[in-house]
Amino acid sequence: MMEKLSAEELLQNLNFIRENISNSAKKSGRNAEDIILLAATKTVDIETINFAISQGIDYIGENKVQEFLLKYQNINPCHKHFIGHLQTNKVKDIIDKVEMIHSVDSLKLAREISKQAQKKSKTIDILLEVNIANEESKWGFSPDKLMDAVKEIASLPNVFLRGLMAIPPICEKSEENRKYFKEMYKLFIDIRDKKIDNSNMDILSMGMSDDYSVAIEEGANLIRLGTALFGKRIYK
Ligand SMILES: *Cc1c(COP(=O)(O)O)cnc(C)c1O
Repeated sequence: MMEKLSAEELLQNLNFIRENISNSAKKSGRNAEDIILLAATKTVDIETINFAISQGIDYIGENKVQEFLLKYQNINPCHKHFIGHLQTNKVKDIIDKVEMIHSVDSLKLAREISKQAQKKSKTIDILLEVNIANEESKWGFSPDKLMDAVKEIASLPNVFLRGLMAIPPICEKSEENRKYFKEMYKLFIDIRDKKIDNSNMDILSMGMSDDYSVAIEEGANLIRLGTALFGKRIYK
């Protein structure tokens, strides 16, 4: 649940975000158009999501399978991504309903995605989640195990590796995460430069409501925003 914003408030948020994206993109020698704004829509009602889509949001990300399944059919046409931790036994439920999975955090999960995509005769775009600060509580590959995982996962059929995703620590000041964004960018470039078969490393998904400006400055080209766009979530 969230405190529901008026259309006007949501538009104000969106304008503010777009301005920040543009400024941060410039600082890193890019244009606002180079940055994808994905709305993280957990707990957000369908009407609000569709209003955001009508205002030019064309990417949404859900992070719980059950909630996604309840909502997706009523969400107007847009790019639908899955961004939360995904249990292997739930892959089959979403494989034909999402365009990209950001949160591939184990070999086992990647193999299951490949298997289920094969069954649907589709190829699905994936990002590998990196536990960039090596936090106990977080999912994802540790940076030192990433390259081996990339090689193995890129060789699987019916998955196409598009990049990396990270959720850095919750921070008081966004500057505290700058070092992690820098490390992510370096990993991203290292892998991209290897030009591994069956991959096209063009997406670096990092930056949330509290730190997206810094993330963009450090090279993110897809940010995932919930609170900054839709307001504070009351729970979840
Ligand atoms: C909720 C969520 C976000 C957005 O978080 P905010 O801080 O509300 O912007 C981004 N990424 C993932 C994976 C999420 O679950």
